[in-house]
Amino acid sequence: MEYRVNPDIIKTLEILKSNEQVQKGFDFIEADDANTLRQQKELVLVEAPTFQEEERGKVFAEMLKAEGLTEVQTDRHGNVFGYRRGKGIGPIIVVEAHMDTVFPMGSAVEIVEKDGRIYCPGICDDTRGCVAVLATIRAMNAANIETDSDFLFMGTVEEEGMGGLGGMKKFMLDHPEVGGCICIDGSGMEYITYEATGIRTMAVNFHGIGGHAMGAFGHVANPLHAAARAVAKIGDIEVPAEPRTTYAVSNFHAGNDAGIHAIVKDATIKLNFRSNGQKELEELEAKIKKAIDDACQEETERWGKDTITYDYEDYVDVKAGTQDIKAPIVQSVYQVIKEMGAEPIFGQGGSTNASNPIAMGVPAVCIGGGGQAGGVHTIDEWYDNTDAYKAVQVIYLFAFRWSQRLD
Ligand SMILES: [Zn+2]
Repeated sequence: MEYRVNPDIIKTLEILKSNEQVQKGFDFIEADDANTLRQQKELVLVEAPTFQEEERGKVFAEMLKAEGLTEVQTDRHGNVFGYRRGKGIGPIIVVEAHMDTVFPMGSAVEIVEKDGRIYCPGICDDTRGCVAVLATIRAMNAANIETDSDFLFMGTVEEEGMGGLGGMKKFMLDHPEVGGCICIDGSGMEYITYEATGIRTMAVNFHGIGGHAMGAFGHVANPLHAAARAVAKIGDIEVPAEPRTTYAVSNFHAGNDAGIHAIVKDATIKLNFRSNGQKELEELEAKIKKAIDDACQEETERWGKDTITYDYEDYVDVKAGTQDIKAPIVQSVYQVIKEMGAEPIFGQGGSTNASNPIAMGVPAVCIGGGGQAGGVHTIDEWYDNTDAYKAVQVIYLFAFRWSQRLD
């Protein structure tokens, strides 16, 4: 199916793109490419595992200040941002990338360059996004761009893993004045994430009395057995293919070698489930909770004694959200990518920092910061800067377009 963009959006973009001042920004971005890459290599070595972004936050705040942003600040969650004020017409627009990485401290200690590739954990995800944010500010300044909307440029915390997109979520709850988000994550310039996959990550703790494996046998129910029953039941749950809905029990922990001859007191499972539909996500959650409930009851009935109890710990709760593929922000970014010479690709669902804004009804997309990358989320992560500036040109044109009250 061919994706059709409203002719007015196409026309407006053509006019903007051929504007002399805007062109000046394009030229600047190309000339500034080496500088952007230099910053990328500098920032990646300031390590920032999720929940330990403070050092990188300080460095990034200085970088935002150096680009001339005003009111540069670190919020109570650790997100770092500053403003580039326009005419103050229309809502504030956020351009952000996440500062945290999946690697523990001590992983990104040196940069290795080999065969045109730059190797360092985090070099792409999302250090590239962070410096693409900086390069966009520089281009706007160099071209003397005055925007209708005010811009807020930001480095966020807690995107990865157990952070669960939390930095952006907390920021959005604090800032209802935000009216649009451009999230920059990863490499490339074609990929558009415009949907939000709902995510739930939780632990379930099963509790019993425990006791000697022989002496207590038959007198107590076994929480490990209850947890295993629950896992088996969860494994049988059917989910719809559309909207894509998935689940996995990803961690099972009970007992230790010292108590190998004991019936354990506690067992824990951790699980993660997702759906591109909020209704389907909630239905799945109900089924999972019923499976756990039934498992505990069966284990108790099996022995006719004791009662297994359980509780939940919530780690990640991201609501699913759909944004129309024909929403103006989606059409606009699609056309910008096309105008800049690439073939846009739409992602199915998505777990990016655009998720929380989308679920809250705020227009948002996530696009790449340029170049190519591989081995993302592994210590062999690499980045190739070839033509990376073109993605910055996309971000710059798209941000400018989106900030103008033209419709
Ligand atoms: Zn990322």
